[in-house]
Amino acid sequence: MSAHYATDGSVAVITLDNPPVNGMGHSTRVAIAEGLAQAAADPAIRAIVLMGANGLFSGGADIREFNTPKAMETPTLRDLIAICEASPKPVVAAIEGNCMGGGLELSLGCHYRVASPRALVALPEVKIGLLPGAGGTQRLPRAIGVERALEMIVSGDPVAAEKLSGSLIGQVITGDWLEGAVAYARNVARDDSRPRVRDRPATAPDDPGYFTAARAKAAKDSRNLPAPQRCIDAVEAATTKPFDEGLAYERELFLALMNSPESRGLRHAFFSERAAARILDVPADTPVRAVRRIAVVGAGTMGGGIAMSFINAGFPVTILETQQAALDRGLGVIRANYESAVKRGKLTPERLEQRMALLTPTLSYDAIADADLVVEAVFEEMGVKEAVFRKLDEVMKPGALLATNTSTLDVDRIAAATGRPHDVIGMHYFSPANVMRLLEVVRGRETAKDVLTTVMQLAKKTGKTAVVSGVCDGFIGNRMLKQYKAQASALVEEGASPQQVDRAMEAFGMAMGPFRVGDLAGNDIGWAIRKRLYAEDPATRRQPIGDRLCEMGRFGQKTGAGWYRYEPGKREPIPDPVVDEVIVAVRGELGVAPRAIGEREIVERCVYALVNEGARILEEGIAQRASDIDTVYLTGYGFPRHRGGPLFHADSVGLPDVAAAMQRFASDPGGDRDFWNPAPLLARLAAEGGRFNP
Ligand code: NAD
Repeated sequence: MSAHYATDGSVAVITLDNPPVNGMGHSTRVAIAEGLAQAAADPAIRAIVLMGANGLFSGGADIREFNTPKAMETPTLRDLIAICEASPKPVVAAIEGNCMGGGLELSLGCHYRVASPRALVALPEVKIGLLPGAGGTQRLPRAIGVERALEMIVSGDPVAAEKLSGSLIGQVITGDWLEGAVAYARNVARDDSRPRVRDRPATAPDDPGYFTAARAKAAKDSRNLPAPQRCIDAVEAATTKPFDEGLAYERELFLALMNSPESRGLRHAFFSERAAARILDVPADTPVRAVRRIAVVGAGTMGGGIAMSFINAGFPVTILETQQAALDRGLGVIRANYESAVKRGKLTPERLEQRMALLTPTLSYDAIADADLVVEAVFEEMGVKEAVFRKLDEVMKPGALLATNTSTLDVDRIAAATGRPHDVIGMHYFSPANVMRLLEVVRGRETAKDVLTTVMQLAKKTGKTAVVSGVCDGFIGNRMLKQYKAQASALVEEGASPQQVDRAMEAFGMAMGPFRVGDLAGNDIGWAIRKRLYAEDPATRRQPIGDRLCEMGRFGQKTGAGWYRYEPGKREPIPDPVVDEVIVAVRGELGVAPRAIGEREIVERCVYALVNEGARILEEGIAQRASDIDTVYLTGYGFPRHRGGPLFHADSVGLPDVAAAMQRFASDPGGDRDFWNPAPLLARLAAEGGRFNP
């Protein structure tokens, strides 16, 4: 049973119990309906309390039932809410902890609601491209007022139930929880009223332009997304239509959103992140190693950010450098970052000091010897890394996890510098490491399974989304990015302007176009890598325009100029005639007659470059599953979430169409045949009519 029934004198207590979050799955719905029927039939019962086990009311729909027939089996959530509303005895929802989505909709079908002081309520459906489909858009405006309800439904963000005391919540219970809820129920049973939210009015705000303004704001905040707009339509309907008609309209909008490509993409994104935490050949019950103390080697850009991400989660961190000056500089940057958070009102001064107190600077390996995990973030040079790992092997206690933050070097070779390669793993953070959610966890040839599970769990504790990658140049994300950037450059050589490419990719939904990203991150990093590759292999495809700009010292924002120019202290990219001259000159030297290139070609070439490399990564087993590759791009590279990631996007377009477009690019005059050679997996799936994501 996913809910149980008990009595306390004249009050029946129905407790939802469907771990982990009391999801409103079929068995839970059945059990609640049975409980309500049992209470109705028992003449000794005067009132009913509906509450949740495990310290929370309900997290909403049971996501294990998502997209399965069970979700639609009767009683549906709508049926259950109707049963509850029609109960001959008053029903009190006792809201403790989280009360989300379908859980809140169920509570709105109860006659009364009480809450614990820390309870949180939300209708988060918009975040997966939907709207609350079980009456939430019709009842919440009636319960708490149209403006507040609209804000909650369009943002999907949680609100403290306490703040809704007097409207949604009849009483905040501060004493014994169960006792308080039962006493409240006993009290309301004294009179015969069973007030229904549906009978209250939903009054539109006086401002006649209110809904128009709300639509304009939602269009600006969530470009191209239909769900926020439909949420507004549904709430507006609550103010104009009788309740049952509003409910039917909500249903219609819900079903349309369920089939929208945006919601499919957002739901894929949601499920992919959860799937990434599971490692195919590592059983879920693999033990983890205890990690309490962390050490970071190198206090530069990455070392500082990595230290902050652990400190923010409450871990004590010892940070090591070879020179006092570098250590002072690193600590200064960390403090300055926290001070800026204080200035922005995101952190209290006391918190700042608490966090700094968790940080111990050192120049000595003795001070880190008993750390449970050490993360290395020194210069990107194999010799330097090998020396650090030899030293770590010498000093670190047995069983310590040894991680490297390398972006391009061979983790297996780094591991081989130690006598304990099974304890070595890659933790590839993204800059700024205290902010960016993605962590690529690089599994070396010999990395032990418990090392892997420990790092995955730590990632979660520090708020990161971890994706496992095998060892290869660039791992998942940067290996694909290289192909994306190569296409962006080729498009400019052939006739597009950097602005045109950036605009097209931003219209597609990328957080920032490739040239703006280059200017932000610094074009010199890629240039240094390219120069090394040109020297190693003269056949390496060149990026003559990007090289020329770097030769001119145009590294991006940090030098005031790159693909764009920047006013001192400003981040606004301004198109620069100097760049146009360089482009014209290089095209002349290459003998290229520029042609007009459309937005569609720009988007397809950049995105399919990602897709083709992603397919190779998948078939080589570097990534475990297509959705992991999607997660990397959604959480680390600004790929539009509503498109579900590059491989999901390719699945949605249809792989035969993707393959055909690639063939076209290869056979275009001046087309790069080698580049557009399809990955065998892509060619096979396209021929079979298959998909990357099953
Ligand atoms: P950085 O130059 O800012 O910092 C490196 C720090 O390591 C310096 O403070 C230096 O003094 C210190 N250091 C050098 N040798 C050392 C040693 N033997 N012992 C202790 N400290 C030593 O570089 P960064 O950008 O922080 O990069 C560090 C690592 O992170 C590199 O492997 C890099 O590839 C990787 N990485 C960088 C980024 C990025 O965006 N910058 C992203 C992911 C990974």
